[in-house]
Amino acid sequence: MTDSHDHMSDDNFIDSLGRPLRDLRISVTDRCNFRCQYCMPKEIFGPEFKFLRRQDIMSFEEITRIASLATSLGVKKFRLTGGEPLLRADLHKLIRQLHRIPDIEIALTTNGTLLKNHAQLLAESGLDRVTVSLDSLDDQIFRQMNDVDFPVRDVLEGIEVADRFGLGPIKVNAVVRKDVNDHTLLDLATYFRGTPHIVRFIEFMDVGNSNGWVMDEVIPSSKVLDLIGNIFPLEQLPSNYSGEVANRFRYKDGKGEIGLISSITAPFCENCTRARLSADGKFFTCLFASGGTDLLQEIRSGATDEHLTQILRSIWLSRGDRYSEIRTEYMRSLPEDKKIEMSYIGG
Ligand code: SAM
Ligand code: SF4
Ligand code: SF4
Repeated sequence: MTDSHDHMSDDNFIDSLGRPLRDLRISVTDRCNFRCQYCMPKEIFGPEFKFLRRQDIMSFEEITRIASLATSLGVKKFRLTGGEPLLRADLHKLIRQLHRIPDIEIALTTNGTLLKNHAQLLAESGLDRVTVSLDSLDDQIFRQMNDVDFPVRDVLEGIEVADRFGLGPIKVNAVVRKDVNDHTLLDLATYFRGTPHIVRFIEFMDVGNSNGWVMDEVIPSSKVLDLIGNIFPLEQLPSNYSGEVANRFRYKDGKGEIGLISSITAPFCENCTRARLSADGKFFTCLFASGGTDLLQEIRSGATDEHLTQILRSIWLSRGDRYSEIRTEYMRSLPEDKKIEMSYIGG
């Protein structure tokens, strides 16, 4: 880090609950070539669905400008996401621009379908890491979960190619769904055991579904831990850094590591250092925030860097989000037969 940059960045900047801003998740498109039922169910994201219009999506220059200003408030890591980020044309050009910002890690979360073709260019442009979502190795179950009949094989190939071009160790994210893929988790763990890649099992969150969140559909991480630990003994590892969402476990025989992300049973709002930027340039301070601040509109009406930074500062200063913790407290205090409604939690 150069002196001048050091001077500009404000590492001690915290929100109303004492949390610094460290990570910026940048959505580069709202489109996807999958229709995972837990994320973009076909019934809603069908042919009639109105995705964002091209002119309402941030350009790479606009993204880079906001991202760069966010680093002056303490952001150290960008994660490109979506939708499916590799559907955005020339994504490597964005990475090249972001890579010019000093001392920043750039990561990508992808469904892996296009990784095989893009990994080399992404790596050469300055991408540091990839996370690949892969819910099951069972081809039939995987095809059913992505709901577009996409085969597992291509995703596995994508992981291999990404690793070859230095984008590993790769985090493999699996959302655990009761009675859908829960009987295939051990296979997934076994496949990556003995490699540097880390499978992370994520508790299913009912986002964007009008039926309300149903605890019965969640397999708690503790169960996944037993399931895998009973076959391959595991021991807990300390976090890599404060704010890490996954609980880390290593195989006692030294054959690698897995992660458990317990968004439902053990929320981690307390250490949540993330902000999110939607593809149309709205800034959100929580995954479940009901609204965001339209930075793109500010940019397009001529806002200066100072003004934009001021907006970011005041948003973060007043941030008090702890949605998952509140949800958990609320669920615990409810009689068992009552289910929470999405209208309460804001979707
Ligand atoms: N399309 C890319 C992908 O799938 O990796 C990036 C965007 S996707 C929204 C980012 C992550 O969110 C994926 O790992 C996905 O599994 C996870 N996700 C989506 N809906 C979820 C849900 N209801 N509960 C838990 N995780 C979810
Ligand atoms: Fe959602 Fe990612 Fe699945 Fe697409 S691939 S539907 S963005 S989880
Ligand atoms: Fe962070 Fe909001 Fe998730 Fe809590 S619910 S961990 S504050 S994004």
